[in-house]
Amino acid sequence: MSKYFGEFGGQYIGEVLKPALFELECAVKEIIPSEKFQAELLKLLKTYAGRPTPLCFAENLTRKLNGSKLYIKLEGLANTGAHKINNALGQVLIAKYMGKRKVIAETGAGQHGVAVAASSAKLGLECEIFMGAIDVERQRPNVFLMEQYGAKVTVVTSGTKILKDAVNATLKSWAECSDTAFYVLGSALGPYPYPDMVAGFQSIIGNEIRKDILDIEGRLPDVLIACCGGGSNAIGTFKPFIDDKVRLVAVEAGGIGDKPGENAVRMSGSASKGIVEGYKSFFLQTDEGQILATHSISAGLDYPGIGPELASLGRSGRIEFMKAYDEEVLNAYQEFAQNEGLIFALESAHAAAAALRIVPQMDKNTIAVVTMSGRGDKDIFITAKSLDAENWIKFLKSECDGYEY
Ligand SMILES: *Cc1c(COP(=O)(O)O)cnc(C)c1O
Repeated sequence: MSKYFGEFGGQYIGEVLKPALFELECAVKEIIPSEKFQAELLKLLKTYAGRPTPLCFAENLTRKLNGSKLYIKLEGLANTGAHKINNALGQVLIAKYMGKRKVIAETGAGQHGVAVAASSAKLGLECEIFMGAIDVERQRPNVFLMEQYGAKVTVVTSGTKILKDAVNATLKSWAECSDTAFYVLGSALGPYPYPDMVAGFQSIIGNEIRKDILDIEGRLPDVLIACCGGGSNAIGTFKPFIDDKVRLVAVEAGGIGDKPGENAVRMSGSASKGIVEGYKSFFLQTDEGQILATHSISAGLDYPGIGPELASLGRSGRIEFMKAYDEEVLNAYQEFAQNEGLIFALESAHAAAAALRIVPQMDKNTIAVVTMSGRGDKDIFITAKSLDAENWIKFLKSECDGYEY
């Protein structure tokens, strides 16, 4: 396991959390490689999470774009609708092996919270999810789902009441109860050993792509494309190909423009080095180190930092970073729906938008794979309002008629 990726990563955390992180490090080294753990996780991934997910040949878009062959890795078909379950199941299972009674987690848009709540229900652990008050208001459907899975959603009212405040609240709670509780972190970031552990659980995406494309095409792909928030689906897609001659493209949220606050572009924008939430990486921040507000049409790509391994691989040039603007993202969402019958999550539609640019520029005998990190049912309140406002608002109004508040 690596504590640092180049100069990024590390474990910059107060004394109170050192023992909890040390206990986690020991558990990770002992439990994850064990045959019993691996067999149980594999069985859960197969019979509960729905793995392996398919690698689908995008026949119609391949014909239409007239460049490389295009394949789509369908993480959206995994239980709870996205790749997040790969990591949530893995960490909740470790918690169980460690003898913890309870798991705690932060969530922003609620996707990680839903995956953790579902995994906890499945494995019989108590679950508490910390969520900023503003996010609770914006993401009511996911709050509802978490509660249906039996989780307690704790509303965080400190600070700006969004994801970073939820992270702080979760860390504070963990410092108080780490003897009985396990902190399930949602992306490939945070203090060591989280980035390595999460990348490990998500590498199943790239490993399955590798096996399937070798079976189908008899060779490796030429380019892999994945969207990038904190970076867990991207590093999970890329990691098994780092040493191969494969172009790796991570796509960030270009938002509504290039000015500060209009996007969440870190590696292909103006982020600078910093130490936040226990690790060193690139962050969107002021000269004084104040974290900047971000914008993206997708709730999962507006994180102001990026996982340390991606930061390092981006810096060295091994991974290319691109951005996709909100408008292109909605266009790609419709292209893939109409040509391939797949409703992409808005996060994943950033990768789709990049694919629409990259594929036509490639030779006919090359292969591109885009990771659909999740399905877009969850985004209907955004997509329908953007693409069919009048009818959607009419529908929402009619739903509300007759209710008293
Ligand atoms: C959370 C989420 C993301 C962003 O997280 P990463 O850690 O960057 O993968 C991307 N896509 C979907 C569908 C998500 O739910």
